[in-house]
Amino acid sequence: MLDALFVRRWLVAAADAVDREAERLTELDSPIGDADHGSNLRRGFRAVAAVLEKEAPDTPGAVLMLAGRQLISTVGGASGPLYGTLLRRTGKDLGDAPEVDPARFAQALRTGVDAVAALGGAAPGDKTMLDALVPGIDALDNSPGSFGSFGAAREAALQGALATTPLQARKGRASYLGERSIGHQDPGATSSALLFAALAETAD
Ligand code: ADP
Ligand code: MG
Ligand code: MG
Repeated sequence: MLDALFVRRWLVAAADAVDREAERLTELDSPIGDADHGSNLRRGFRAVAAVLEKEAPDTPGAVLMLAGRQLISTVGGASGPLYGTLLRRTGKDLGDAPEVDPARFAQALRTGVDAVAALGGAAPGDKTMLDALVPGIDALDNSPGSFGSFGAAREAALQGALATTPLQARKGRASYLGERSIGHQDPGATSSALLFAALAETAD
């Protein structure tokens, strides 16, 4: 079962991964964006780790809603409201359950990913974070809902991020480049793969 501590450990692992990979995320955001994705997320996830240490809510839903609000208020770029919505809507879906099984957690994450798609108006294939989030959540749903499925989700999200390279961007800043966005890996899909990697690491 997944409890508040599990979700806090996930988000702290995500903050560590973002911190380690921030330079690379910013580098990916320079040819097809404004070279701030790593610094945006580093600031946001550091703030998430800090507020969780201070407040430590005692249900998975409350942890996720607090973290989502923190991302929205600390990240100025497109990714802040999008990732903030992912966490907030996932948390809201979990309600006040003190713990949930992995299948229920996957279902709530699906609600969060759907909310990201609705907010940003993007679909898989548009070269955005959804190109990693959707395959990741599909892999979670296709497995029997055990802890092992988090490893499959990590791999699917990573492959989804890598597969954004040949795509032309249809949403976000990169879409302004038209065909010139082809040939570069999407920074947001890359950071989404990090979130799934942190989840698998936490479940191990
Ligand atoms: P900004 O583009 O405002 O500088 P970031 O650099 O932090 O914000 O984030 C850029 C990432 O956000 C992109 O690589 C893409 O994955 C994601 N993104 C941008 N617009 C959208 C959208 N409409 N829907 C989903 N994801 C998006
Ligand atoms: Mg940017
Ligand atoms: Mg920006």
